[in-house]
Amino acid sequence: MQATYQSVEEMLAQLRPSYPIYCFRPAEFERMARRFQDGFPGKVLYATKCNPHPGVLDTLYRAGIRNFDTASLAEIALVSERFEDAASYFHHPVKSPASISSAYMVFGVRNFTIDHSNELDKVIRETDGGRDVGVQVRMATEDGYATYNLSAKFGAEPEEAVRLLKRVAAEGLTPGLSFHVGSQCAHPEAYGKALKTAGEVIAQAGVEIDSLNVGGGFPAHYVGHDVPPIEDFLAEIRSAYAELDLPDNVVLMCEPGRAMVAEGCTMLVQVHLRKDNQVYVNDGVYGSLFEVRECNLSPPARAIRLDGPVSNDTAEFTLFGPTCDSVDVLPNTMTLPADVREGDWIEIGQVGAYSNAVATKFNGFQAETFVAITENTKRWAVA
Ligand SMILES: *Cc1c(COP(=O)(O)O)cnc(C)c1O
Repeated sequence: MQATYQSVEEMLAQLRPSYPIYCFRPAEFERMARRFQDGFPGKVLYATKCNPHPGVLDTLYRAGIRNFDTASLAEIALVSERFEDAASYFHHPVKSPASISSAYMVFGVRNFTIDHSNELDKVIRETDGGRDVGVQVRMATEDGYATYNLSAKFGAEPEEAVRLLKRVAAEGLTPGLSFHVGSQCAHPEAYGKALKTAGEVIAQAGVEIDSLNVGGGFPAHYVGHDVPPIEDFLAEIRSAYAELDLPDNVVLMCEPGRAMVAEGCTMLVQVHLRKDNQVYVNDGVYGSLFEVRECNLSPPARAIRLDGPVSNDTAEFTLFGPTCDSVDVLPNTMTLPADVREGDWIEIGQVGAYSNAVATKFNGFQAETFVAITENTKRWAVA
């Protein structure tokens, strides 16, 4: 659906863009989707919110992804309209009644998440008793492992999760259990610990669950943020899950967002002005780089100049985005050629997650161009 080029250089030579461009690497999205599906001993859902661009969804679908973690009716509609044989899981713990009934009646959604008994009431009411509905109870996890702690907002404490599981079963719905260790989690043992707690909760509840969902949280590679490979996380999950010795009919699930798509997209920006060691480019923290600031990340980057080489000497630069707001600046300096200048392009790596998904139109600036690049150089794999 978007124009395809062999390389970023070829695209630049043709477009000479003074506007920012998202450069998808479909082969990279596919590779990550297969890596999860090959290594995870269960069902792999994709967390739609992370990057809902149709080009991303189509690529993941081609790579075999058929199940999507969704949080809104708009996401459910998006998945449903694109893929006839895909399933949406409505895994937001707090939903409007109307969105539950539309999800159930119009889109055939049969899987929901709750972390409070009032939300369970709502699901039962809006699905006509919920006899054909699976409800995962979202359990809070311990803080301290991830860059983003999501348990501060969602998740029932283990004792409450026990009560909720019992109630889901008593009401005649099918109970499941889920957690999310937090996003950009660098520690495989966070999953092992959470699975151990999940096992205790399941045992105490004494109900038959049909699914156990370890959520997302798998990390992407950023400069100075060493993280183990995905396989280490999957191995930890595999062994911790085996310890629980749950019946064979229980479906283990995960729902990665960031790790699935971060590496498959780079952002191409142009330098519009240089003042000493300050570089002003045409996208920033109100655009694709919101998370870079929010999470204090250092994405990998390189400068590209079409009419001649850039200097081999490097220097540290502060990168400013295009809006008039002074917070529109990257939190860490970027290493660039010492002679970087107006008109050069900078390709910023690891921008596939929470980028276009959260970009604003503040001040009239919004990156709207998406291209696909077939060449897969691995240049952006930091580790
Ligand atoms: C955001 C979210 C995910 C994806 O999290 P990542 O850290 O991007 O992998 C998965 N599940 C739920 C319920 C989420 O809210």
